[in-house]
Amino acid sequence: MTARSEQGRGTGRPYNFFGDYLWNRYGCRILKLPIDAHLSCPNRDGTLDGRGCVFCGEDGSASPTAAGVDDITRQMEIARTSFRRSDAATRYIAYFQAFTNTYAPPAVLRRLYDAATKEPFVTGLMIATRPDCVPNEALEVIAGYARAGFELWLELGMQSAHDGSLAFLNRHHTNECTVDAVTRAAAFGIPVCVHVILGIPGETWEDMMETARIISSLPAAGVKIHHLHVIRGTGLEEMHASRALPILSRGEYISTVCDFLERLRPGILIHRLIGDRPPATLVAPLWGIHKGTVLRSIEDEFARRMSRQGFLFTG
Ligand code: SF4
Repeated sequence: MTARSEQGRGTGRPYNFFGDYLWNRYGCRILKLPIDAHLSCPNRDGTLDGRGCVFCGEDGSASPTAAGVDDITRQMEIARTSFRRSDAATRYIAYFQAFTNTYAPPAVLRRLYDAATKEPFVTGLMIATRPDCVPNEALEVIAGYARAGFELWLELGMQSAHDGSLAFLNRHHTNECTVDAVTRAAAFGIPVCVHVILGIPGETWEDMMETARIISSLPAAGVKIHHLHVIRGTGLEEMHASRALPILSRGEYISTVCDFLERLRPGILIHRLIGDRPPATLVAPLWGIHKGTVLRSIEDEFARRMSRQGFLFTG
C-alpha cells in the first residue's frame, strides 16, 4: 500500500487523494457502503463515562441508509440502490462506519465481516474504531481479509496528538494509545487511516502542525481530516449554545488544512478534507455545507502558494 501510494497519482491534484488512488488501482468507480453493525462503543455504553465524545451524535456517525435496519446485507443493498446514479461500472467497499467496529469478541467480528464481504460486488473492507479497542486478536481477524486486489483499511479515531485535546473531546484515550494501535496494526500488515479534527478549542496552530508531524512519523497509510463542527444532540451543541465554543472560519480552515498537508508525508493518502453531515443535523459552522466550494478553495490556495502535500515535510 505505502509503496504504491508513494508513487503519486499523476492527476495534478495538490494532495494524494484516496479517490484518485482507487480509480487508478481498480479502473472503475468505487463507493463505500456504510454499515451499522450495532456494536455500540465503550464511550457510550457506560464502560467509560457513558457520555460519548463531545462531537458524536446518538447515531455514532451512522449513515441514514442504515437507519432502522438490523441486517447488514440489507443495509448494503439500500445504500447501493440510493447511491446508484448511472450504469457505469461500480464496485464497493463494505464500510463498518457507525460506533466502534472492533468492540466484540473475534468470532462475532469475523461473522460480521464475512457477511459484508461475501457479496460479489464488494472489493474492500473498511473498519472504523477507537485506538483503545484494537487488541491483537481483533487485528488478527482483520488481517485475515488482506489479499491481492482487495482494499482493506482500519480507520482509527486519533483526532489529535495532544492529550489535553483528547480530554476536551472526552475521548478517554491518550495519544500514546493511538501510536501503539497504529504501530501494531501496521505490524499485522493492515493499512491504517487516522481521523483528525482541525480547530479543536485550545489547540494552537503549532499544536495542529505537531499532529501532522507525528502522523507522518507513524506507519499510517491514510488520513481523514475534518473541521470541528457542531452536530445536533452532541456535547459540542451545548457548548455552542452557551457561546463558549470558538470555531474556525472558512478562511482559517482552508489556510490551516493547507498548512497541515504541507507538513504531511507525501505518500499518505488523503481520504477526506472536510466533515460531511446532512445539513439538517448541522448546527455550525454553516460554511461546512458547501463542501465542493471548500475543496476547490483548498486547491486554489495550494496553487497560490505553489505548494502541495509534503512541500514542508522534513522527514
Ligand atoms: S465518536 Fe466513536 S468513540 Fe466517540 S462516542 Fe462516538 S462512537 Fe464512541
